[in-house]
Amino acid sequence: MRQRLAVGNWKMNNGPTEARAFMAAFLGVYAPRSDRTVALFPPALSLAAVRDALVSRTDVFLGVQNIHSEPKGAFTGEVSAGMLREFGCRYVIVGHSERRQWFGEDDRTVALKVKAVLAAGMVPIICVGETLAERESGVTEKVVGRQIAAALDELGSETLKGAVLAYEPVWAIGTGRTASPEQAQAVHASIRGLLAKRDGSLGDLAPILYGGSVKAANAAELFAMPDVDGGLIGGASLVAQEFISICRAADQPSGRDG
Ligand code: PEP
Repeated sequence: MRQRLAVGNWKMNNGPTEARAFMAAFLGVYAPRSDRTVALFPPALSLAAVRDALVSRTDVFLGVQNIHSEPKGAFTGEVSAGMLREFGCRYVIVGHSERRQWFGEDDRTVALKVKAVLAAGMVPIICVGETLAERESGVTEKVVGRQIAAALDELGSETLKGAVLAYEPVWAIGTGRTASPEQAQAVHASIRGLLAKRDGSLGDLAPILYGGSVKAANAAELFAMPDVDGGLIGGASLVAQEFISICRAADQPSGRDG
């Protein structure tokens, strides 16, 4: 059975004071569950606040939004995967469309970062997705396939067995426009097919998250799709009660409660 996940990417929101307030509100209501994994990705300066709030919780994990691909060196302003692992992070988002768009990250950079995350013993969440223009010209699967192949070619299917994938159509991120469950399922199935072609067990085991304007109101129908294993949540993860409802939608379809 594939792992079910709900992960909250706060982007550049929630400084330390707001992060502490969020954690108090979230942990005060959200009961531990073993059938889904939850992770929070605060901005770097709030990592300590979230980590400290999680000391007595083993069911919610700390993640980081970015790393540098080198383990150390003269890279002013950067932080390495090993340092973040030592700090207590377990997951790293790699290839987010905002990093591709605003920070010039390409498929090669993404592959190197995935390699660094895995070498540090953490779990990369590899984001892929097409722009609106690409969807409208009918090349969604080609674009997503290229993005995934870049990581597979660099690392090999065996190494990627520790990774999580996230399909995030760029036109749905932060826009309030969500892929329909059927649109999400079609791309997830094509990603799974692509993984299975390289290695059957990678296709069976890799969790594939959907991201793009997921809210409490649409999470359950998206997560009910057979190849959607949970969600990567941006804006809606900033509101504790909303994020809790989304987390609850991410458990195994047969056991929804808690
Ligand atoms: C994201 O940050 O990856 C994301 C999907 O954002 P939002 O949920 O706000 O669209």
